[in-house]
Amino acid sequence: MDGCIFCKIVSGEIPSFKILETDKCIAILDINPANPGHTLVISKEHFDNVYSIDDDVLSDMILVAKKIARRLKERFECKGVNIIMNNEKIAGQIIPHAHIHVIPRFDDDKVIITYAKKQMAKEQFAEIAKRLSEEEHIEQKGDESTPKENIKEEWVFR
Ligand code: 5GP
Ligand code: ZN
Repeated sequence: MDGCIFCKIVSGEIPSFKILETDKCIAILDINPANPGHTLVISKEHFDNVYSIDDDVLSDMILVAKKIARRLKERFECKGVNIIMNNEKIAGQIIPHAHIHVIPRFDDDKVIITYAKKQMAKEQFAEIAKRLSEEEHIEQKGDESTPKENIKEEWVFR
């Protein structure tokens, strides 16, 4: 996509330290790492975020993230790893091209990835669980006279 930094990194127009590559994504070092070894797994094709990315691309990316996590553990002896995907501005996504962060963690590294833990009533949990567990259903657009092949299917979230 025109003007997208990560598309330019994928095409090689902007240089990067590339770690590995598949037919669907690349893994590069983050230019401003939280810790040494902080890696970004970036889709080769431009997708904005988790909502629009193809399933097979995302599946490939998470497996690459796993591979990087293992390498960081084995080769840099990190004590753990945060695997994060920010989606949309409010969630901290600065570059609107789908990517997964793999951040190695070390003792006393001063990296802060946290949130205030909320208290909620059992009823609230129950209501949220109910809404999230309901299956999407397909609403048929059209009527009896509409030929079947012309009926538009639409995902509707209740
Ligand atoms: P976001 O907040 O969008 O999830 O994270 C974007 C990440 O991309 C940031 O951690 C930032 O340091 C990294 N980044 C931004 N521009 C570049 C760049 O030109 N090269 C590399 N290697 N990383 C970048
Ligand atoms: Zn892009």
